[in-house]
Amino acid sequence: MMKEGIDLEEEKREILRRYRGLLRVCHRSKTRADRARIRKAFEVAAEAHKDMRRKSGEPYIYHPLAVAKIAAEEIGLDTTSIVCALLHDTVEDTEITLDDIQNLFGKRERVIIDGLTKISGVSNYENSSDQAENFRKMLLTLSDDVRVILIKLADRLHNMRTLDHMKREKQLKIASETQFMYAPLAHRLGLYNIKTELEDLSLKFKDPETYDSIVSKLQKTQAVRTRFINAFTLPIRRALDKFGFKYEIKSRTKSIYSIWNKIVKKGVPFEEIYDVFAIRVILDTQMETEKSDCWRVYSIVTDFYQPSPERLRDWISIPKSSGYESLHTTVMSPSGKWVEVQIRSVRMDEMAEKGFAAHWKYKDSPETPEGKLDKWLNQVRDVLENPEDNAIDFIDNFKLSLFSEEIYVFTPNGDLKTLPVGATALDFAFHIHSQIGSQCIGAKVNFKLVPLSHKLRSGDQVEILTSKKQRPKEDWLSIVITASARQKIRDALREEKKLIADDGKDMLRRKLGGLKVEFNSKNIDEFVKKFDTATATELYYRIAKGRIDLTRLKGFVVDGNRIKFETKAEVLPETNKQTSQDKVVITTPGKNETLLIGDEQQRVDFTLATCCNPIPGDEVFGFITVNEGIKIHRTNCPNAQLLMSKYAYRVIKARWNNAETVEFEVGLKFSGTDDVGIVQNITNIISTDMNVNMRAISFEAKDGIFQGKVVVLVHDTMHLSSLMDKLKAVDGVLTVDRIESEFQ
Ligand code: MN
Repeated sequence: MMKEGIDLEEEKREILRRYRGLLRVCHRSKTRADRARIRKAFEVAAEAHKDMRRKSGEPYIYHPLAVAKIAAEEIGLDTTSIVCALLHDTVEDTEITLDDIQNLFGKRERVIIDGLTKISGVSNYENSSDQAENFRKMLLTLSDDVRVILIKLADRLHNMRTLDHMKREKQLKIASETQFMYAPLAHRLGLYNIKTELEDLSLKFKDPETYDSIVSKLQKTQAVRTRFINAFTLPIRRALDKFGFKYEIKSRTKSIYSIWNKIVKKGVPFEEIYDVFAIRVILDTQMETEKSDCWRVYSIVTDFYQPSPERLRDWISIPKSSGYESLHTTVMSPSGKWVEVQIRSVRMDEMAEKGFAAHWKYKDSPETPEGKLDKWLNQVRDVLENPEDNAIDFIDNFKLSLFSEEIYVFTPNGDLKTLPVGATALDFAFHIHSQIGSQCIGAKVNFKLVPLSHKLRSGDQVEILTSKKQRPKEDWLSIVITASARQKIRDALREEKKLIADDGKDMLRRKLGGLKVEFNSKNIDEFVKKFDTATATELYYRIAKGRIDLTRLKGFVVDGNRIKFETKAEVLPETNKQTSQDKVVITTPGKNETLLIGDEQQRVDFTLATCCNPIPGDEVFGFITVNEGIKIHRTNCPNAQLLMSKYAYRVIKARWNNAETVEFEVGLKFSGTDDVGIVQNITNIISTDMNVNMRAISFEAKDGIFQGKVVVLVHDTMHLSSLMDKLKAVDGVLTVDRIESEFQ
């Protein structure tokens, strides 16, 4: 049978060949029942997709077969996963329904395929916020069954391998998404091979020229590397043979993507990195002796080559939370080059390559990798269910925790706790228990007293000191780095606000009682409207805080049981009538109230950032620093963009209230023609005409041009601009500009 030049009989034979190829790698599906389920899934999928073709023109069924093969062979998944991988596109693209799946296979299969269908349904997004949101949803489906995500990764990997046939813009979109979402996910799940391949393939489509040039340079330098490796490993091989080890030595260069990263992002030339590689010694040994065997090999390697003590990494005593176990050392080769040697057992190697999926062969390990995976999934779920962070933040947090390594610290009882790098004593306290976190006043790290903000290091023993009087503080948000601690602090602050609001509620109740007016929702609404608060709680809170002064309440009438504010009421007794809710007046010592800082209730000091020297009238924002409280920056400060994008959660709203009589320093620079008396004119205007105080002044004249700088004290931008106008009018002055930053 021939159709449009395609030999359909031959195609059928090829489909069967590929199916048998799949069966050969289904190591976990040994029983007759397992094989029957896989066969049935294959037949259902083949029938459902029989009239469909891929962009390449190949029969569509090649794709589910390939995805199932990746799931079985490269991730090591079970029969249910293989069945679902075979069926993964049926519900979306064919007549088959979820009910059919459930009837033919079962409830579990239905749940997984439902998850897979949903994921691909939401994968059409335009901007990065949608993308992040969809990724969030996708991870939420993890809570149903983690196999959804593993099969999705297999699906993505096969799509990346066959991306050639897609249109250019689709290639770019899929490649970016892979790099942004899927590679980090594979990394976090411990699927290092898949992660590397996804990254390399993304690069291949995003920057084909560079990719090809790296590939060809790697090929050209292959011989040099092989010679070096042979010479380097020869003495090690001899010694291992002598001691009767069964082993394999592998070597691998950096991935194309990581070479590209170095070249493009760090500007290192290829010639300096092509020979950076790791030598891996893989021991075929029993699980009971694998650790001691690894250390024996370590001592053999370091007998020949001098190790760098700072670069010893022992992940066999304490594996990474992704399940990675290995012993790494970096040694000096005779030619003076550092070489990383990784020592591990076959079991560890499989774990390293396939991640959690490799666990099935080694079920007796004390803490199962599945248990650890569950732990991780719980953490992800914590973040996912956090309604405060928007989706973009989530991706940032997620990526952060994907790439950062972890630290291991101990409780006074010797329990091991895993935290991300950069975690503080306060993170640790919240990690133990939210109440311990809330009441934390300090900690002892290795028996030494440290503040809450103390950054922990691996191996620290941490004891938390608590006090019943302690309450979570707003600035704690800048001390913690874990999402869960941040959330717990936010919850506690909200709780605190509620308690304060309760007082305000009582105050209002008494006030209304005094007016012989009922405390009911109509009357409360009248207040809410009058004071323009978002909610009644907000109203009570402001009353309790004294920002709405009930004793000075004016401009209302009592009509029976109702209180009504007259439309032409007098000035509101509120401190800041124009501010929207949640604005607070912040005072700084020695200055009047001049700045309104948003969102929270505490009175905090602030300082003005020296990088942009804001003055009243400037557009400003507050930034919560780690050691110096709130700093006020201008929104056009050179540092603003970085602060806002990297530490968005530490940025708070701020705006100037009124200038009063406070004075602020501001720098001005001048240029002009060098004219006798010009300095005199300028200083006269500043100090006499405008009555402005001068702090410092410097002039420099060269070749008939003078440049000058002066630091003056002004009230606000209006004051400043009228001063500048006057100065510009001086004969001989060419330019007058504000110095935006002291580094200019
Ligand atoms: Mn697919």
